[in-house]
Parts: sequence; C-alpha cells; structure tokens
Amino acid sequence: MKSSLPVVECFHSLQGEGKHAGRSAYFIRLASCKVGCPWCDTKESWNSKLHPQQSLKDLSIGTAKAQKEGAAFVVITGGEPLHHNLDELCKEIRKYTLNQERKSIPIHLETSGVDKLSGRPDWITLSPKRHSPPRLDNLLCCQELKIVIQNSDDLDFAKKMANLIKNNGTTKPQLFLQAGWNNDEGKALAIKYVKNNPDWTLSMQTHKWLDVL
Ligand code: SF4
Repeated sequence: MKSSLPVVECFHSLQGEGKHAGRSAYFIRLASCKVGCPWCDTKESWNSKLHPQQSLKDLSIGTAKAQKEGAAFVVITGGEPLHHNLDELCKEIRKYTLNQERKSIPIHLETSGVDKLSGRPDWITLSPKRHSPPRLDNLLCCQELKIVIQNSDDLDFAKKMANLIKNNGTTKPQLFLQAGWNNDEGKALAIKYVKNNPDWTLSMQTHKWLDVL
C-alpha cells in the first residue's frame, strides 16, 4: 500500500461549483489524468512525474489544520483522483480529523468515474466525459452528476447519463449542467435546457467569476 501520492497543490478556499458552491473547503489536487479532455483547465496535472510525492500523513495533517480554520469538508480532486487507490489516504484523513464528537471531516471526491471507486467518500461529484464514459457502478452511487456542455452532443450525453441512473439506480443524484468556460454555444444550450427541465440545475463556476483561488 502506498504511503504517498503525487500532489499538484493543496489549498483552503471555497467550493466553486455544484451543490456545495460557496462553502469553505480544503482541496487536495492529486496529479495524473489519462482522460484527456481537450478543454481541461488543469492540464498541468496530467503527468504525475512532474509533481512531488507527499506523504499521506502530511496531507492529513494539512486537512486537519484547514478543518480547524473552518473548512467544512475536504475535496479530493485532480487530475483524475481515482487513478490512485484512495483507501489509505481517506483512512488517514479520517484518523487525523476525528473530533471530540467522534466525527471526521466529510470527504468529497470529484471524479470522471472511469476507474474503480476507493476511499468510501461521503460525497461523490461525478463529472463524466462523453469521450471516456464512466463505470456504471460509479454513475449509480454518485450524489451529484455534473456534465460540462460544450455542444449539443454533450447535452445528448447528459440525458443518456440521467436515463441510465433513472432506469438502473436507487439513488437520485442532483443533476447539474455546467457550460464550458467561455463557450457561448454551451452556455445557451445549458440555460435553455435547464429552463425547460426542472430536474436539472445550472452549475456556475463561481470561483472563476469571483476570481477566488
Ligand atoms: S478528467 Fe478532469 S483533469 Fe482529466 S482531462 Fe478531463 S477535465 Fe482534465
């Protein structure tokens, strides 16, 4: 079992997107992604060899410090965090953030869903990609489904993902469409679809609008 992981950055900020937008969060951005989205805004995270290994203990101590400073949850993101087995990292985070009420900080995971789930996260934001669809088991256990809309094919993909959940799942994730950044076509499509389909909500990248790190 690995005792360290390649890390791009860790920082305490506000969650910018989805259901928990605007809440205090500590982010652990792990390196490595082979999904290859052309519009990716974290391409620097793709090659894990370019990023230092950090011990699981140090990552957990950093999370505990942020928790004391007000972080309501930790977000494990990437890159594609599930390229790594997250069992040990999440175990360590839970150990180091255990409070007097015997509760640990909630662990949120942001993933495209292409790999097997690990770490037993408390909240899964699944952001599947049309060119690299997610595993069905990941699709059926997420709390939040977020699809980036660049064009009408992405909208068709969003409907397909929602139907798969509806027809196979027992849980009902919150459904979000998020327009591609600086993409007028995606913005128009997402807004129009959400206006006509009340099951869906528009996800805003509020951290980019507000220039919050
Ligand atoms: S899955 Fe995420 S990190 Fe990987 S290429 Fe796509 S947007 Fe970038």
